[in-house]
Amino acid sequence: MSERVYIGLGSNLDHPERQLSEALQALAALPATRLLQQSHFYASKPQGPQDQPDFMNAVCLLETDLSAHALLQALQQIEQSQGRVKKRHWGERCIDLDILLYGDQSIQTPELTVPHKEMATRDFVLLPLAEISPGRVIPGMGRVETLIAQLEQTFVVPWVASNSNHTA
Ligand code: ADP
Ligand code: MG
Repeated sequence: MSERVYIGLGSNLDHPERQLSEALQALAALPATRLLQQSHFYASKPQGPQDQPDFMNAVCLLETDLSAHALLQALQQIEQSQGRVKKRHWGERCIDLDILLYGDQSIQTPELTVPHKEMATRDFVLLPLAEISPGRVIPGMGRVETLIAQLEQTFVVPWVASNSNHTA
C-alpha cells in the first residue's frame, strides 16, 4: 500500500541549493516512489553552533510503496552518496534527510520516530510544510499553522531566490 510521506531536507555545506536539488532528484528516482510536491527553498540560521554557515531547507511530499524503515535506509544512502559527514550534533552537513510524516502513522522504534520529534518547534520545517500542505494536522502535535503561531524561536531568514528550481 502506498503512503504519502513528507521529507525534510537541510544542507549548509558545499553549495546547499545544489545539494537540495540533487537530493530531490534522488528522492524522485527511488523505487516505487513518486515526488508529488516540493516547497521553495528557505534559508535559516543554524540551530546549534553558530560558527557554521546558514542552512537551506525544504520539504517535499512523496508517494511511496517503501516501508518507513526501508525509506529511512534509502534516505541514509542518499546522504552517504552526497558525501555527508556528520561532524557534530546540530552541526554542519552536506545533506540531512528526515522523515517528518509517514501517512498518519505514529512510529516509535530505536531507529525511527515519526512524526519527527522536533518538527513542532522548527520554523524551517513548519513553514515549507505549511506552504505545500496548508491546514495539515500533525498527529499528536496539532495543526501546522497553530504550531507556527506558537513558535518561541525562529531560524528562517530572508533570502532572495536566485536558483531555486521547482519541478512540482
Ligand atoms: P539529526 O537529523 O537529528 O540532526 P541525524 O540525521 O544524524 O541527526 O539522525 C540521527 C538518527 O536519527 C538516524 O540514525 C535515525 O535512525 C534517527 N531518526 C529517528 N527518527 C528519524 C526520522 N523521523 N527521520 C530520520 N531519522 C530519524
Ligand atoms: Mg537527520
